[in-house]
Amino acid sequence: MSQEAKILLITGIVQGVGFRPFIYKLAHEMGIKGWVNNSSQGVTIHAEGGNLDLFSERLRHEAPQRSRIQTYQINESHFKGYHTFEIAPSVAEHNAEVLISPDLATCDDCLVELENSKNPRYQYPLINCTNCGPRYTIIRDVPYDRVRTTLSDFPMCKFCTTEYQDPLNRRFHAEPVACPECGPKVELRDSNGEFVQGMGIEQLAQGAILAVKGLGGFHLVCDARSPEAVHRLRERKERGAKPFALMARSVAIAREEVDISPREEKLLKSPAAPIVICERRLKSSLPQEIAPGIHTLGVMLPYTPIHHLLMAGPFDFLVMTSANLSGQPLIYENEEAINGLKGIADYFLIHNRDIYHPCDDSVVQVIGEEAVFLRRARGYVPLPLQVATPVKTPLLGLGGELKNTFCMASGSRAFVSQYLGDMENYDNLERYYQELESFKRVVHIKPEALAYDHHPNYQLSQYARKQTLPKHAVQHHHAHLVSVLGEWNRTEPTLGIICDGTGFGADGRIWGFEVLYGNASGVARKGHLEYLPLPGGDAGSKHPLRMAYAYLKTLLTEEEWRVTEPFWTELSVQERKILDRQLLTGVQVFQTSSAGRLFDAVSGLLGICRKVTYEGQAAIELESSAFACKKGHKAAYPYEIKCENSQWILKVGEMFRAIMEDLYRGSQAGEIAYRFHITIAQAIVDLVLCGGNGPVVLSGGVFQNKLLTETVLDLCEEKGIEVLRSRMLPPGDGGISFGQILIANEVL
Ligand code: ZN
Ligand code: ZN
Ligand code: FE
Repeated sequence: MSQEAKILLITGIVQGVGFRPFIYKLAHEMGIKGWVNNSSQGVTIHAEGGNLDLFSERLRHEAPQRSRIQTYQINESHFKGYHTFEIAPSVAEHNAEVLISPDLATCDDCLVELENSKNPRYQYPLINCTNCGPRYTIIRDVPYDRVRTTLSDFPMCKFCTTEYQDPLNRRFHAEPVACPECGPKVELRDSNGEFVQGMGIEQLAQGAILAVKGLGGFHLVCDARSPEAVHRLRERKERGAKPFALMARSVAIAREEVDISPREEKLLKSPAAPIVICERRLKSSLPQEIAPGIHTLGVMLPYTPIHHLLMAGPFDFLVMTSANLSGQPLIYENEEAINGLKGIADYFLIHNRDIYHPCDDSVVQVIGEEAVFLRRARGYVPLPLQVATPVKTPLLGLGGELKNTFCMASGSRAFVSQYLGDMENYDNLERYYQELESFKRVVHIKPEALAYDHHPNYQLSQYARKQTLPKHAVQHHHAHLVSVLGEWNRTEPTLGIICDGTGFGADGRIWGFEVLYGNASGVARKGHLEYLPLPGGDAGSKHPLRMAYAYLKTLLTEEEWRVTEPFWTELSVQERKILDRQLLTGVQVFQTSSAGRLFDAVSGLLGICRKVTYEGQAAIELESSAFACKKGHKAAYPYEIKCENSQWILKVGEMFRAIMEDLYRGSQAGEIAYRFHITIAQAIVDLVLCGGNGPVVLSGGVFQNKLLTETVLDLCEEKGIEVLRSRMLPPGDGGISFGQILIANEVL
């Protein structure tokens, strides 16, 4: 027998995905002796006494489906003469390289067991195995072992232990393994906290609203086919017009209501099981109130055994919306749910497997044949991104104010947190600080320097200033540009068109439609949308018609302005008085080049959205309105790009004049909205061509607009311009924390 021995060190997603059992089986099959263990570095194997080359070869090629090998090291070792191959206990070490798996949707094997009345886990609502179930959301620390998860309080019974210890079992070292005998329990309570029989299916069928504990937090659930239940939920949640997400029993059933492409189907069925934004079918019969005024529906498939059990009821679609009070963080604890959702939920389907990292559902939309994140959270976090220039000092990027994420990076890896909401809300900020601390343990990074948004008044800028660590303030749109470059591992200076809502500009104004050129080391502003007045700042942005008023009053001649009178009937005399005074004196008026505000103003002017009840509403409804007229007039409105002080300035006065003429003529709002999209898309491509012929980075929340983005992509393809877009992070503000750390890594 060969006296050769090798130590193999494997990093990546190799814990919680059935990696050790796989190694064990392979070693036994090939007659290899030694051991395997989990460490905070990853998986270590001592192998001897067999064909080690073939073993190593097969290991890499046959690794479990859910695992991802990042690095693979083989070193010579001393032959010890082992007689067996064992799974050795985990070793806790510093300098962790291990990657924690995101949470995984229930696998097919577990579903079969769930439905099999002879199986000990028949209808057990928390069934899981090495291929599925909770991961990130239950982990307190690494290495990933049961004692460091929220299952530490549930000693395994004999049956579970046997499976857990059997290398040939699907639950071999499945850390969250549980059964009705030993595991956490699910129970139904009424609004007084009293115990009720069943899972709540009958109650749902009668129109009740349930608070249901999922993987990352609670959902508010009702039968989506009941207009009364949907209406009640919307009223109780004080949600305005913000769309509700849906859970469909299957893809086939979802197809009755929305169009699903093969790409979308793959996303829906993936272990991450995100919400996928799909086009609503014309013959869709679900109540309009699920998603008022828009042409899409957010759909997902059941991803926990609880969901599957609920779907056994007489429902094909359930409304599944995050359980939080308007603008507040996601609720994830039982007590908090029962107290906080009083008056909203009629029943509570809870269990005592605690959630450690609250995590919202992820939301994606297929735009230009790529999945684009609108929100990145459950199912994706904490997967890392690779960093091209290694991070010397461990870094923390605090992120932006809205739709925040933070980012921690060390060495060649950057970890972006789950979506944490808007930081202007105090409770969200508290949740942010809580996650900041617990995330450090999961990714084993202790930041020694930090990067934050240049905006002087952001909550997190104030937090940053109080920290004693070395720090660097990053311009908002620079971070957007570099975030995308980072995803593509590009370091050379590149042109970027950044279209978003607001970001604090280097000149102290509010930027948002920017032509930038640069990389992590530096950036120059090459152009932008002309500055227009935003009365009342962020508060003003809730009133699209006021914005339209201010824009037109600034852009039109006095003569042209006089005939616009009929458009302002919905503004009160008082409102107009205030606006006129603000525009005259400039008090409380901010100059902005924001693309988001331009979409809002047009939406207000066309009467599509007059009052904003959720972020982005005016622009989203404008897109929906345009979408309905997609087959109409394809010509862009006129606009100008002027070179002023060696910057390209996009002027939109001519466009607004043409829009007014269409309105006087009685054109349909949707037709105008469609031509507006075409106009902006063409203007974007013209701005790109001002700087050469690419490549160009497209980033910012406005590129979550599918119609706009796909039009830009088509035009770029015609001109042969290479486009770089976000693939792993949202193009909106959820992606900027990654850009911040890349910039700080160059500058600090
Ligand atoms: Zn499973
Ligand atoms: Zn058990
Ligand atoms: Fe932004």
